[in-house]
Amino acid sequence: MRTFEKSVKLNNVCYDIRGPVMDEANRMVRNGESVLKLNIGNPAPFGFRAPNELIANMSSNLTSTEGYSDSKGLFAAREAIVKYDAKKGINGVTIDDVYTGNGVSELITMSMQGLLDYGDEILVPAPDYPLWTASVTLAGGTAVHYICDEESEWFPDINDIKKKINPRTKGIVIINPNNPTGALYPEDVLKEIVKLAEENDLIIFSDEIYDRLVMDGAKHTSIASMTDKCLCLTFNGLSKSHLIAGYRVGWVSLSGDKSNAKGYIEGLNLLSSMRLCSNVPAQSLVASALEMNEETEKLICPGGRVYEQREFIYNAVNSIPGMSAVKPKAAFYIFPKVDIEKFNIKDDEKFALDVLREKKILFTHGGGFHWEKPDHFRIVYLPEISVLSEAMTKMKEFLADYRQV
Ligand code: PLP
Repeated sequence: MRTFEKSVKLNNVCYDIRGPVMDEANRMVRNGESVLKLNIGNPAPFGFRAPNELIANMSSNLTSTEGYSDSKGLFAAREAIVKYDAKKGINGVTIDDVYTGNGVSELITMSMQGLLDYGDEILVPAPDYPLWTASVTLAGGTAVHYICDEESEWFPDINDIKKKINPRTKGIVIINPNNPTGALYPEDVLKEIVKLAEENDLIIFSDEIYDRLVMDGAKHTSIASMTDKCLCLTFNGLSKSHLIAGYRVGWVSLSGDKSNAKGYIEGLNLLSSMRLCSNVPAQSLVASALEMNEETEKLICPGGRVYEQREFIYNAVNSIPGMSAVKPKAAFYIFPKVDIEKFNIKDDEKFALDVLREKKILFTHGGGFHWEKPDHFRIVYLPEISVLSEAMTKMKEFLADYRQV
C-alpha cells in the first residue's frame, strides 16, 4: 500500500510556536481542561478590538473589492505605503516597488523563494521570529543564526555577524522591533549592520511589523532609511498595529540599489502574480489605517493596556527567584531567562510541557525561536493584568520546587 509522506523539502522546516507543545495544549482543551494560552501574538482573543472606523470602512468597501486586484495590490494601498515609507525616511520607493501580501508572512516566504538556491546562506537572528528560518529552509537555503545579546539589551552582536559572513551569504534579516525579545535597535547598531551589508553586498530584509508599537516615547528607525547602496526589503503590516491579524494584510517595499537585482525582482513579480493578489477588502483599509494610529497609541502610552501589562509582566518576571528578563521596549512579548542550573533544565521544550501539564499555562520555549541554550521562553503579555498575575503566581509556585528529570 502506498503511503503519503510530507515532502522532503519540509524535512528541516519547523514552526514550533504552533508545534508539539501547542498540540498538547489543544489535546488538553479537547479533554475539557482550561489552558491559558500565552503563546501567540494574536490580540483579538484577549479582548482587543479593531478601531470601529476600520471595520466600518471594510464593510463599506466589500462591494467594490469583490474582484482580484493588480497582483501587487490596489493602487491606493500602495500609494499610501509609498507615503508611509517616505515619512520613515526610506527614499526612492515607487508604487512598483510595493507588494501587498496576505500578511507579512506570505511575503517573507515569497522573498526567500524568489532568491535562494541550494547552498545560499541568509543571516537570521537568534532568537528569531521562526517563520524567517523556516522560509529560508523551505526555499532551499541555509539560515545561519547570529546572536542577539541579552547583556546588551538583546541587540545584534556585530562581531558574531562579521564571523558568519562568507561568499555564500546573500542577505541579512533583522527584526526591529523584535519578536520575541521586544528590543528596539538604536541607530548606531543599525549603522554597523548597514556597513557590513554594504561591504559584503548583502540584501537587508527588515521586518518592522511592530514599528507602531514602540513604548516610552522612543523612536523607531527604519534601517532602509540609512542606505541607498544596499537593496533593502522592508516588511510591515496591520495585523498588530491595527489589531486585525485575521484580516491578513501586510506589505513589503523595495528600496536602495536595485540595479543588480533585476533577476530577483523578476522572481518576486512572478511569485506575486502566481498567487493572483492578496485579500482585496483588507488592502482597501491600508490607506485609512496608516492615517489612523491613535487607537494603538493609546494602548502603548502610560495608562494604556499594552503599556501597563508590559510594566506588570516585567516586574512580575523579575520578582520570581530563578527568573529574569530585559525590559521589552516594543511589541507585546517578553523573553525571560530561567536559571537552568537551579532547576536542572536540560530540555526547554520539556520545561514548557511540564508547566503546561502542571499549571495549564502555555508558552513557547526558546528553542522555538532558534535559541540554542534551554534557558529562555517567550510570554505573550496580551492578557489583562489579572490574568497575567494569576499566571505569574502559578509560575512562581511551579518553580518553587521544580527540578527537571
Ligand atoms: N513578523 C513578525 C516579527 C511577527 O511577529 C509576525 C507575527 O507574529 C509576523 C511577521 C507575521 O505577521 P502577519 O503575517 O500577520 O502580517
